[in-house]
Amino acid sequence: MHDAGSLGTILGVWAHPDDEVFLSAGLMAAARDAGQRVVVVTATLGERGTTDSTRWPPERLGRLRGLELAASLAAIGVTEHRHLGHPDGSLARQHQLQAIDELAGIVEQVQPDTIVTFGPDGLTGHEDHQTVSAWASTARAASAPRARLLFATTTESFVRRWAHVHDRLDVFLADGLPLRTPDADVALALNLSGADADRKLVALRAHASQTAGMLATIGEDTLREWWSVETFLDADRTPLPQRRGADAGAAAGPAWGTWQLVG
Ligand SMILES: [Zn+2]
Repeated sequence: MHDAGSLGTILGVWAHPDDEVFLSAGLMAAARDAGQRVVVVTATLGERGTTDSTRWPPERLGRLRGLELAASLAAIGVTEHRHLGHPDGSLARQHQLQAIDELAGIVEQVQPDTIVTFGPDGLTGHEDHQTVSAWASTARAASAPRARLLFATTTESFVRRWAHVHDRLDVFLADGLPLRTPDADVALALNLSGADADRKLVALRAHASQTAGMLATIGEDTLREWWSVETFLDADRTPLPQRRGADAGAAAGPAWGTWQLVG
């Protein structure tokens, strides 16, 4: 990453607490180090993100995940967060125009130079991710059409290097994922090492309700390395992979479940 300052004000638009950290913690931290404003929007509190809803009923888990998100953002120096307040797993069934209008209002206020979100594929194939990507693209067209739009992606080398991890963790929810974006199509890549990778690890750990199980399964060094390369496509310059997973109808993909352990 040459110059995070060149990205200007960054607005991250995500579905659940923890999406932002896996895909863009290094980018956000570099931008903050360069003195840039970074604002994160989260559509839901991820209150269904558990396999034990008896112990973690949605209201309790949502509260916890809101606190985890605040702690994680603090670790990377991000102080501005907006929560859209939609139910986890419901984004495709919300009133789309209202939701986009609300997001467009935030884009209008923040006037970002760069918007960072999922591609239409949703990266993991999660329907909420795909929906929030569409919201972000439409809100940008309405309120900040000159803003650069970056879609988080994964590359062929990521897929090869981490196949053994993807076999153990149920992260990617649709056939054809993870994305194998050719390196030549990557518009922006950050390779985090040393203190930068440690800082992202702290931000990942802060989402303990989602990452503690992963840490126990794959270990801290692997978790640190796994997402130490952040890659983004330029939405305006790259032929985009198509939306996957939810195309065949509501039954095609799980409504939630990102980052859950297998079994
Ligand atoms: Zn998510």
